[in-house]
Amino acid sequence: MVKKLLALGGDGIGPEVLESGLMILETVSKVIKVNFDIDFDLIGGICWDKYGTFCRNITIQKAKEVDAILVGAVGGPKWDAMQIKGDPEDQDGLMCLRKKLDTFFGIRPIKYYKSLHKIIPFYRKNVQNSEIIILREMCGGVMFSKPRGIKYIKNQRYGFDTAGYYELEIKKFAECGFELAKKYNKKIISIDKSNVMESYRLWRDVVQQVSHNYPNTYLEHLYADNCAFQMIMNPKKFDVILSCNFLGDIFSDLAATISGSIGMLPSASLCGSPLNLTKGIYEPVHGTAPELVGTGAANPIGMILSISMMLKYSFGLDIVSKKIEFAIDKTLQNGCHTMDLKGNSSTVEMTNHIIKELKLCL
Ligand code: NAD
Repeated sequence: MVKKLLALGGDGIGPEVLESGLMILETVSKVIKVNFDIDFDLIGGICWDKYGTFCRNITIQKAKEVDAILVGAVGGPKWDAMQIKGDPEDQDGLMCLRKKLDTFFGIRPIKYYKSLHKIIPFYRKNVQNSEIIILREMCGGVMFSKPRGIKYIKNQRYGFDTAGYYELEIKKFAECGFELAKKYNKKIISIDKSNVMESYRLWRDVVQQVSHNYPNTYLEHLYADNCAFQMIMNPKKFDVILSCNFLGDIFSDLAATISGSIGMLPSASLCGSPLNLTKGIYEPVHGTAPELVGTGAANPIGMILSISMMLKYSFGLDIVSKKIEFAIDKTLQNGCHTMDLKGNSSTVEMTNHIIKELKLCL
């Protein structure tokens, strides 16, 4: 069997962690007899420097033709500071890729690791066995809606964005969320600011309506500020969090405290319909960590777990995916920790350790 992939390393530590992910994939492919036919391309700042755009049309075209897309990370101070005119898709390569592929359904699993307990700011009884899945809408909301901009009003600059969602956007996203929660028997907490914002009033109403078709799935609504407080006080309360693009972005980083580092979190951004979500972009949640570039200290686990998510969600290889998670658990238990986990293992050492553990269980 051959599966076609597009690999986009991007900027900063993106290419370094992608390389680790591809080493895991190579190890797996030898055993499961799947050949991964990988095409490489540029995205982000490196693409801007070469082609004057953060994501080329030809890259979007290739992305549409493959079975799954792997991304490292994009951006850096040099490109973040540039004043590029246009829509968010013109200003950020990853947002362009997500929007053009319509990968609206973001899945971000966050897990407690017993072996990392000493580096996280929680009492053991409040956090042990925590597993949270943040479902983030990826292609709409305040990060994409118009009008947006900075203009002169009353002799001073005025910056503005539009926090808007169409009813059908929320409905489709919520239906995907309920399908996932139903499959894994999880309860849903939907977050919003419907006490003060109209778009969130619609969000809450539509999510509530969708829930009527899923009578056996528990749904609770929380204001996002209250959710932030409860997540720190009692993370075990949470199963699946349903959130808009903006809040999902912030809550992923907040929830990363449970895993010990933002470098530990993977993500999938899938396109399709509630009962058919198999194609997507797989990338770590973290950014390009410019200060770590070339130090060999980047934690590759977020990227490796993203590969594991690809095997599960795009290729139905749940068992292999679980084995990768198991190999990561063992590696951490053996004390192989990168700098962000208060250890001194390098990216390469950690990757090799995971491969060694993986070979033992494949
Ligand atoms: P960041 O995620 O790059 O870094 C936040 C902190 O986490 C830093 O201390 C960094 O050293 C650490 N960190 C991140 N990934 C790590 C890893 N794999 N191993 C060890 N430590 C890790 O976020 P930032 O500093 O806010 O942004 C830096 C750049 O990344 C910016 O240009 C931003 O636009 C971009 N960014 C890109 C993405 C993406 O591509 N998905 C996401 C967030 C930020």
